[in-house]
Amino acid sequence: MIGFEYARASTIADAVNQVGATPGAKFLAGGTNLVDLMKVRVETPAKLIDVTHLPLDRVEKTPNGGLKIGALVRNSDLAYHPLVERHYPILSSAILAGASQQLRNMATVGGNLVQRTRCAYFYDLTMDCNKRQPGAGCAAKNGLNRMNAILGTSEACIAVHPSDMCVALAVLESSVHVVGPRGERTISLSDFHRLPGDTPHHETNLEPDELITAVVLPPQGFAANHTYIKIRDRMSYAFALVSVAVGLELDGGKIKEARFALGGVAHRPWRNARSEAALAGQPPTAAAFAKAADVVMGEAKGYGHNTFKIDLARRAIVRALSQAAGGTPQSQSHKKFA
Ligand SMILES: Cc1cc2nc3c(=O)[nH]c(=O)nc-3n(C[C@H](O)[C@H](O)[C@H](O)COP(=O)(O)OP(=O)(O)OC[C@H]3O[C@@H](n4cnc5c(N)ncnc54)[C@H](O)[C@@H]3O)c2cc1C
Repeated sequence: MIGFEYARASTIADAVNQVGATPGAKFLAGGTNLVDLMKVRVETPAKLIDVTHLPLDRVEKTPNGGLKIGALVRNSDLAYHPLVERHYPILSSAILAGASQQLRNMATVGGNLVQRTRCAYFYDLTMDCNKRQPGAGCAAKNGLNRMNAILGTSEACIAVHPSDMCVALAVLESSVHVVGPRGERTISLSDFHRLPGDTPHHETNLEPDELITAVVLPPQGFAANHTYIKIRDRMSYAFALVSVAVGLELDGGKIKEARFALGGVAHRPWRNARSEAALAGQPPTAAAFAKAADVVMGEAKGYGHNTFKIDLARRAIVRALSQAAGGTPQSQSHKKFA
């Protein structure tokens, strides 16, 4: 690890001022991603601004019946929050599918959103990586790319965003509240993470001097018909090969609204509006779900070691939609298929 300055922010304004005053400064929340990256010199911030004492650790109802989640709420506290368990169980389920209990006790909502890819070539300083060093090339494309992306990739990068929580947040159509030197603004979750294009080092639409203050969930929680399926190499803890979050609204034996997002397959949680729209008005049958999966996976591209993900994701989509329709969400405590 290289030398760096450390300071604790006393207020939100102080955090924003401090990050703006030192080029290369970064916010420190739970540290479970940033500190790991500093140890291997992938991240070399000049200064860490510890935001953990800011008053952003509350979960509150919003006037319209939604939920405002402070950026510093720990992943465990959020997953087990009674309002989340009752109204947004898909979010509890996705969070509990991620990392380990100890990590979830440290990790925060803001840090989870901004966590960086787990692409092995990003972590290895001896390998070419456009994300780490723009213009260097992408060793993953012809390398051991089993964990890498099959949707939304570019010539420059085939990394995936590793979060489970964000996949559920995509289905819930949440928004991210941020504050910076130019004031406050709201970014919809669907616009928060970027596709790699030819600038894979720009992973989100958050500016480096902006602090995430909260994530806001609309009232629609899909509590009756939801599921989060995560396929991974081992059940104890591992990043997703493929994950699927589903929220369905059923009415009179037909699908009124269908939303589903994939994790582990792209540089951001992946939704496909066309395939979701095609499900509306259909009965919730395996045939309709298979058609929806085909629409999504018709756009997928494998890179050799990860080509198996195309079929895996297709089957996971059908399974997740079927479980959601049947009201049999996957248990994350027992990690068994329902
Ligand atoms: C062994 C291991 C296994 C894991 N497995 C999984 C898994 O299966 N699924 C999964 O989803 N995750 C997994 N994770 C990742 C974990 O969820 C993240 O490390 C964690 O969510 C990051 O949160 P943090 O608060 O520790 O962030 P930090 O490490 O403190 O920060 C991460 C980044 O976010 C920025 N940041 C933090 N807070 C803010 C804010 N309020 N505003 C702006 N920027 C901010 C920091 O500057 C930094 O760039 C795993 C991690 C480890 C170490």
